[in-house]
Amino acid sequence: QLPTLVIVGRPNVGKSTLFNRVLGEQQAIVEDRPGVTRDRKELEAEWLGVPFRVIDTGGWMPRGSDLDDKVSRQVEAAVQEADLVLFVVDASVGILEEDEAVANWLRRGDHEVIVVANKADNNQREEQLWQFLSLGLGEAIPVSALHGRRAGDLLDVVLERF
Ligand code: GDP
Ligand code: MG
Repeated sequence: QLPTLVIVGRPNVGKSTLFNRVLGEQQAIVEDRPGVTRDRKELEAEWLGVPFRVIDTGGWMPRGSDLDDKVSRQVEAAVQEADLVLFVVDASVGILEEDEAVANWLRRGDHEVIVVANKADNNQREEQLWQFLSLGLGEAIPVSALHGRRAGDLLDVVLERF
């Protein structure tokens, strides 16, 4: 079983864009599987000669009465398979309640987590990274999935953490 990277986070932070960026940055696409369900996509990727599996998640329940209910079973199942979780937040927006819900859930688990501050499109946004420390999951790694900024740096960190 390849080391597995699972991308989680509230809607619209750029999870799927990051997933596609991983696809775009890698040197060789080993395999591209259609999603098991509508929102879940996975692929086998490679970075610096190291193959790994990436799972994009999207299945999120927006109407749970309890905030924790917002973490859907689909996301939970994907995270159970993870060797490393990329918890994506939005550097252009900051922390929302839903981000805190995801963070609380991840902190209760025992998975390795990297906080990814996506949409860090410029230096000004990178200067806001300190705010994500309050999620209690370590320092955020800035990236701009859309423009590719620092995408290679993120993948380097991923390899170190596998
Ligand atoms: P998801 O719901 O978490 O999968 O988010 P998507 O990948 O669908 O992206 C949501 C929106 O954010 C889209 O309009 C993307 O183009 C935009 N987006 C994603 N990454 C970036 C980024 O790095 N910078 C900016 N400015 N926008 C981004
Ligand atoms: Mg998505």
